[in-house]
Amino acid sequence: MHRFVVRAALLAEDSATLEGAHARQIAVVLRMQPGDEITLVGGGQEARAIIQSVSPERVVATIRGRAASAGEPRVALTLALPLLRGDRSEEVVEAVTQLGVAMIVPYVATRSVVRALGEAKRERWERIARESAETARRGAAPAVGAPRSWAELFDALPRPIVVAWEGERDRMLRDTLPRDALALSLVVGPEGGLADEEIALARANEALIVSLGPRNLRAETAAIAAVAIVMDQLETW
Ligand code: SAH
Repeated sequence: MHRFVVRAALLAEDSATLEGAHARQIAVVLRMQPGDEITLVGGGQEARAIIQSVSPERVVATIRGRAASAGEPRVALTLALPLLRGDRSEEVVEAVTQLGVAMIVPYVATRSVVRALGEAKRERWERIARESAETARRGAAPAVGAPRSWAELFDALPRPIVVAWEGERDRMLRDTLPRDALALSLVVGPEGGLADEEIALARANEALIVSLGPRNLRAETAAIAAVAIVMDQLETW
């Protein structure tokens, strides 16, 4: 069954109208017809829907059954992701969406090489997150926040906040996670690593500083591994 992540409000009505990329996908790529069935997904719910009319601009479907989606983790995990060179941030967005993050907050650190995220690129992250959520059979796509500076992160992120730091020697991520947490934020540093002053500011904001092990990981590997560890430790089903 083809899945389409839509605004949660669309699932509340008897009938839903899909436009833009979704309409084009259904009409032109999948060549679906009235009577065909699709799954609409949003806000942790999913609904069976029967197509009533199809055009490349607009698809109307009648909603039949709604149910909670099995694809949403209990913990709402936010990942603060530095802007990385090339397509590396996009690769992380794709992987961590599959693993179950609820929100991605882009940011720029002192040693970040890439220092600005244009609106077009931010929307590209959103599109990748939506498509990735559809393939992973999630019940919602992660939100992509506005870009922040390091200092702004600590007001923007849901607590508790955990920072993966290559200089940490004592505390491992897996031993730090509060078992019953319903929300958690994870911060990974940029290619050049996190500066001592950045770690000091994080500590001053009560962030927990953790290690991912004795090897020096690339930022994208660290982000994906850290999200996988959190989900492995905190997911229950
Ligand atoms: N300072 C490094 C590069 C940093 S790696 C250098 O030698 O160039 C990029 C980011 O990945 C780090 O800031 C950290 O958030 C994360 N990271 C990489 N390896 C890690 C480890 N072993 N433990 C915790 N975080 C790690």
